Amino acid sequence: MAARILDGTKIAGEIRAEVAAQVKSLAGKGIRPGLAVVLVGHNPASEVYVRGKVKSSGEVGLYSEQHSPPETSTTEELLTLIANLNRRDEIDGILVQLPLPSHVDAKKVLLAVDPRKDVDGFHPMNVGNLSTQRPGLVPCTPAGVMEVLKRGGIAVAGQEAVVIGRSDIVGKPVAMLLLNQNATVTVCHSKTRDLPEVCRRADILVAAIGRAGMVTRDYVKPGSTVIDVGINRVTDQAEFDRLFRGDTAANAKRRETFRAKGSTLIGDVHPEVAEVAGAITPVPGGIGPLTIAMLMANTVKAAMLRRGI
Ligand code: NAP
Repeated sequence: MAARILDGTKIAGEIRAEVAAQVKSLAGKGIRPGLAVVLVGHNPASEVYVRGKVKSSGEVGLYSEQHSPPETSTTEELLTLIANLNRRDEIDGILVQLPLPSHVDAKKVLLAVDPRKDVDGFHPMNVGNLSTQRPGLVPCTPAGVMEVLKRGGIAVAGQEAVVIGRSDIVGKPVAMLLLNQNATVTVCHSKTRDLPEVCRRADILVAAIGRAGMVTRDYVKPGSTVIDVGINRVTDQAEFDRLFRGDTAANAKRRETFRAKGSTLIGDVHPEVAEVAGAITPVPGGIGPLTIAMLMANTVKAAMLRRGI
């Protein structure tokens, strides 16, 4: 039987509506949460992400502003910008879009963000808050994974969870959130032995790898929940044919887009997994839309935590 689809676009819409309602209620107290997005230079992918973040902020009623220092900015210049944003009371969230130019000390810049305004949840203070279960700001994509599980009616406590990927941005915080909700968690990476065998233990399998369609059906316990965090662009015809075999309506639609655009997006999970899993997040339309929704939610949370609300 085909897996139940966990619809991230719908869940993100629900979260955005809740955030908009919170923003409205804060307005009654004279508070308008504000987000500052810092985009250094002209990385085309980053420009698309930042546009989406600024647009979403407006839609839910947040104040937002974009800072676009030039590619040639020094670490010191960025530290000065961050210090100014830290000082301004109308700014509740500061997001530094990554990657930063290679000559910039990215760790130093991220460390300079006031942890109370760190809506990306990357500051070591927030990493510590998460691992010791204190109130703080949680990274957006991992927080989105947990919302999909919760709102998708997937039980976490007592379940075997396997996370593939151990990045600071996705894998580690997802693992910590699952552990905090009483799952039994295994974290896998490129040196893990017998990866498919370890993954087959999972009631909840989270793939955050960055490899198109790597997780095939032999990684998946029948009936389990599969969360696909990966976003990969496929441009090669042979790879497309490997990933989208079969004459289904969904594949026909993909083929059409691929022909027209020369590329298509796919997660880390092979489409055939939908025939084995009990529930699965699609790509696109799964975890991706949650990331921006959780950024909006984090900005409101930061505004409230900072004011002791
Ligand atoms: P990353 O920093 O490159 O980390 C990838 C992880 O996967 C690493 O821990 C790596 O292991 C592991 N890995 C790589 N190849 C492997 C293999 N063959 N077998 C087992 N493990 C392997 O990537 P990331 O930033 O976490 O992102 C992961 C994916 O999520 C990407 O596709 C990214 O585009 C996507 N993403 C999506 C969103 C969203 O909004 N949905 C947000 C962020 C990221 P090692 O540590 O051993 O190298």
